Amino acid sequence: MSEIVYLNGEFMPLEQARVPVLDRGFIFGDGVYEVIPVYSRHPFRLPEHLRRLQHSLDSIRLANPLSDGEWTRLTRDIVARNEGDDQSVYLQITRGVARRDHAFPKDAKPTVLMMSGPLSTPAKDLVDSGVPAITATDYRWLRCDVKSVSLLANCLLRQTALDAGAAEVVMFRDGYLTEGSSSNIFAVKSGRVLAPPKNHLVLPGITYDVVLELAAAHGIPCDVREIPEQEVKTADELWLTSSTREVLAITTLDGKPVGTGKPGAVFRRIHPLYQEFKRKVMRQAA
Ligand code: PMP
Repeated sequence: MSEIVYLNGEFMPLEQARVPVLDRGFIFGDGVYEVIPVYSRHPFRLPEHLRRLQHSLDSIRLANPLSDGEWTRLTRDIVARNEGDDQSVYLQITRGVARRDHAFPKDAKPTVLMMSGPLSTPAKDLVDSGVPAITATDYRWLRCDVKSVSLLANCLLRQTALDAGAAEVVMFRDGYLTEGSSSNIFAVKSGRVLAPPKNHLVLPGITYDVVLELAAAHGIPCDVREIPEQEVKTADELWLTSSTREVLAITTLDGKPVGTGKPGAVFRRIHPLYQEFKRKVMRQAA
């Protein structure tokens, strides 16, 4: 069965979905997006994703084309029309179609796309082994809190990691940890979880919030503060978090082992807590 997508008010097979070449998303990367994990056909933390979407839209001065109720119905609809209990819903809004001009068009209608594919979370062997990462200078723009479709820098950075045989970059700006190319990064030192603060230099991750909530609820000490590069390089543990990769241990950094070179003790506490939390939320939603 072909994937069904929603484009500007209509549902259609993915192969039939077309956007004009003058769409500002294509010409300028002038748009924002969200990725929402769906477990057992229940969208995970949808209100939080919609709140972040509103922040992104406000930041680029684009009116939200749908209400939260409409987004919620549309998300459920697209999930129902696609195969698989676990899905990854992608939605994107661009400033619409207009003659190429940097200035905002006066009366363009935003382009609204929603699609959904299978959700592939990390296999058990990856959770057990952890993944390699490399360090990189964060050369992205200064509004990384906006979930913008302009992801060229993120793509270049991710490819640098892949070319080095690594899964992710751990980025620093002015000597402090920011995040990964598509994930937030946590460090652990002497049993304390360290997380960079949410500001304009990082995407406010939904998984980041879940991890901090779980740590607080289970008495794992956390410090949200600026983390100097040196502290990251000498951390006992590093983790990356995202909606699709959940919580994964980074076990080598620039080819050197992080801590013991295996997922650490605090990771081995937080990972099952995350899985249990997911199951609990889904049971409540059912
Ligand atoms: N930072 C960046 C740059 C990302 O692209 C992502 C993935 N959307 C994240 C962090 C993690 O966010 P979330 O936990 O909401 O998936």
